[in-house]
Amino acid sequence: MRLTDDRYSGERSQFELALRMIRHEARTHTIKECTGLSDDRIRKLYSTYFLNGGNTGVKRRRGKSPRQVTRYVKNAQNQMQATSLVALFVAGLLIRIDEDGRVHARWPRPDVEFGHRLCRAYETYVLLHDDPRLNFEWVWNLLYCISCNDELYLAACDSCEAHYVQDSYALDDKTCPACATDKLDAPAAADP
Ligand SMILES: [Zn+2]
Repeated sequence: MRLTDDRYSGERSQFELALRMIRHEARTHTIKECTGLSDDRIRKLYSTYFLNGGNTGVKRRRGKSPRQVTRYVKNAQNQMQATSLVALFVAGLLIRIDEDGRVHARWPRPDVEFGHRLCRAYETYVLLHDDPRLNFEWVWNLLYCISCNDELYLAACDSCEAHYVQDSYALDDKTCPACATDKLDAPAAADP
């Protein structure tokens, strides 16, 4: 009895996650990685709940996740949004940041709990920003890239000491996106 119950709740959790991820327009491959469900079951869930269920407006994405780190740093707005996501990853215990600002994955292998935590981070991110620039797949990719400490890293701002997402191959002027935006918005000094 117990075993059956556990298996049932495990399956329910897989399905709940798949539906949550489909709603965020995650790619089939990404859903598969977290839920362990087959392509066929994901397709069926999608057609049952989103095609026949009248939930139009949700697109099913195929193919690979995007992989271009410049997306996260191309302007102060994107950089600030990416940085807020890193904070949400930390809050969701998906990563931790050590004293040197290096990122460590706390959840090395995608599973159902990992998927739910990533969904929660993404949902909070969407609530925080009026104009979210990163879709679910970009968020998934950011978590991966920032955990590698390779193409992206956490730089520290000279003015306010905050950490921010930076491209490892770009020149860094040690100014976080918030301070950079403040500088732009500040009225020009009055002429003497
Ligand atoms: Zn700053």
